[in-house]
Amino acid sequence: MTTNTPLASLRVATPDARETYDTQELQRLDSAHFLHPFTDHAALRERGARVIVRADDVYLWDSEGRKIIDGMAGLWCVNAGYGRASIADAVHAQMLQLPFYNSFFNTTNVPAVKLAALLARLTPPQFQHVFFTGSGSEANDTIVRMVRRYWQLLGEPERDIIVSRRNAYHGSTMAGASLGGMAGMHAQGGLPIPGIVHIGQPSYAEHGRGMSEAAFGLLAAGWLEEKILEAGPERVAAFIGEPVQGAGGVIIPPSTYWPEIQRICDKYDILLVSDEVICGFGRLGTWFGCELMGFQPDLIAFAKGVTSGYVPLGGVLVGGRVAHVLIEKGGDFNHGFTYSGHPAACAAALENLRIIETEGLVERVALETGPHLGSRFASLAMHPLVGHAETCGMTAGLNLVRRKGATVHDCEAFPAEQAVGMLCRKHMFDNGVIMRAVGDRMIVAPPLSITKEQIDEMVERIGVCLDLTLEEVAARGWMG
Ligand SMILES: *Cc1c(COP(=O)(O)O)cnc(C)c1O
Repeated sequence: MTTNTPLASLRVATPDARETYDTQELQRLDSAHFLHPFTDHAALRERGARVIVRADDVYLWDSEGRKIIDGMAGLWCVNAGYGRASIADAVHAQMLQLPFYNSFFNTTNVPAVKLAALLARLTPPQFQHVFFTGSGSEANDTIVRMVRRYWQLLGEPERDIIVSRRNAYHGSTMAGASLGGMAGMHAQGGLPIPGIVHIGQPSYAEHGRGMSEAAFGLLAAGWLEEKILEAGPERVAAFIGEPVQGAGGVIIPPSTYWPEIQRICDKYDILLVSDEVICGFGRLGTWFGCELMGFQPDLIAFAKGVTSGYVPLGGVLVGGRVAHVLIEKGGDFNHGFTYSGHPAACAAALENLRIIETEGLVERVALETGPHLGSRFASLAMHPLVGHAETCGMTAGLNLVRRKGATVHDCEAFPAEQAVGMLCRKHMFDNGVIMRAVGDRMIVAPPLSITKEQIDEMVERIGVCLDLTLEEVAARGWMG
């Protein structure tokens, strides 16, 4: 280890080969120089960033030596878990062999070819082609251009409107953030870009009062048809949605929703796009979320779990309907990225997908760990602070409420300004479990490699932190 640079002194090898860190100095440099995503920097400067230095299996360690169970799989991406030396080895070997070459000018590389062929096998049968990107946002930007190019080639260039949903998350680039339905993102930077419109999200808790879940699913899908008729059916190019909304708070639609969306897209001949950046590669207990939800998209955006986040990679799976037109009528598609088909990233994906497949992680989520997470969250729903809890595969969410009710619609929420979710999240951090807060909805999406015993450990810690949050909230006189 070299020690001749000033920064190297921040990481000191100790005699037992463990490392210690100068946390305060790291935090000082961090706030002096590093602008973080989606972060209030003045507030971060006050608190100091948590410095994560190491990970293994489903655990993280911070610079103070604290061990934390990672309930969020990094950021919904470390599907195979941490510490997979074989992924590191595959990337290392590929970097020595060919660290980079582009795939623009009649060239290709071996890992990209192998990965494209593997994806054709693992994905639903309509997908035989893939366009590689560096991230999920770039995948969705690619989708906007590809969808519009498709209709142009078919002689219907006026079909350029893409319908998305409020509270959806499709990334942070101009098109990704426009497709997304986050008002706070639209307010910064003049979004959405033209030709993107939004309908309500299929949240039974939010919109389904007085209805069965099945009836609500049909109603929510019907908003798409209303929007198509309002915009003019000859103007609408595509509909995009996440099978289960992730960043929006693990919003699990009723089972009637997606088949009805499919029926409406078919009726008006519009393209159906599934954003599987979170749901893809096993998260819901199927390889892709559309398989669980029962629909056949024309395009799929993916990223995150394809490499388990070890290196960045994303892409668009292109179904036969679109691929045929692009390839046979398209000529040049004037779009692409320096890192489309990056050999080291594709090598990471190949090894990651081999692990997921050979260890049967998708089946394990479907048959064993997913149902276990479901029953453990059902028990958390009994907690006095929890209004309702839902899971789908290896994702889960629960709502913190002021007063419980007989149904999800009879619970009384805390006023938003009390920010009870953030209080709860802090207890989680301090007690060694990462759980994300979306308003007052607390969510997890752990690595797919998590065991039943580790789920128990995670849920027990969550229970303790719910107790601590309840104590604090009650002491402030906020309970109903
Ligand atoms: C994370 C995410 C994206 C954006 O992916 P990036 O790699 O962060 O650009 C897009 N869609 C969904 C559903 C996501 O969760």
